[in-house]
Amino acid sequence: KRQALMRQLEYRASHDVLTALPNRREAERVLQQWLDEAQAGGAPLALALADIDHFKRINDAHGHEVGDAVLRAVGEVLADQEHAHCFAARHGGEEFLLAVTGLEAAHARALFEQQRQRLGTIAIAADEATVQCTASMGMAMSNEAHSRRELLALADRRLYHAKRQGRDRLIDQ
Ligand code: GH3
Ligand code: MG
Ligand code: MG
Repeated sequence: KRQALMRQLEYRASHDVLTALPNRREAERVLQQWLDEAQAGGAPLALALADIDHFKRINDAHGHEVGDAVLRAVGEVLADQEHAHCFAARHGGEEFLLAVTGLEAAHARALFEQQRQRLGTIAIAADEATVQCTASMGMAMSNEAHSRRELLALADRRLYHAKRQGRDRLIDQ
C-alpha cells in the first residue's frame, strides 16, 4: 500500500494534470540524461520546442475550456508516436517539448515535422465552430550545445525565428 502511494506521489510530481504528459521537471530530467549519454559518445539527441500559434485567440474567441480541450488534444497527439526513443512533455502553458535519441538531424527533423503536421488535424467542436490549431517548432541537436541550458536556448531561439517567419513551421538552423 505504501509502495502504491509512493508511485502515485512520483507520478503527480512528474506529470501535468491537464494533458497527462510528463511535466517540465520530468522533461529536464530526461533531457539531461539523454544529453549526458549523447556527450559520452552514445546516441545523438534531438530536441524540439513546440508552441501553439496564436493560442490566446482560441481562448479569447471560444473560452478557456475550449483552450484546455485543444491542449489536451495536443497532448494526445504528441503522446501517440511509434518511435521507441521519443519523449513528449508539456513544457509550460501552450508549449511542448519533444526529444528523440538515436536519429541523425534529418531523420529527427522528419519525425518532428510529422508530429507538427499532425497537430494541424486536431478539430475541437465549440459552439458553432470547429477549432483547429497550428504550431511552430524550433529544433536543435545535442552536438550543437555544451549543456542542457544551451540546447534549450538554441531550440527556443529557432522557435522564435519560426514565429517571426510566419508561424506554422519548423526551424532547425
Ligand atoms: P504565438 O503564436 O506568438 O505563440 O501567440 P500565442 O497567443 O500563442 O502566445 P501568448 O504567449 O501570447 O499566449 C499564450 C496563451 O496561452 C496565454 C495563456 O492564457 C494561454 N494558456 C497558457 N496555459 C493555458 C492553459 O492551461 N489553458 C488555457 N486554456 N490557456 C492557457
Ligand atoms: Mg507560448
Ligand atoms: Mg503560442
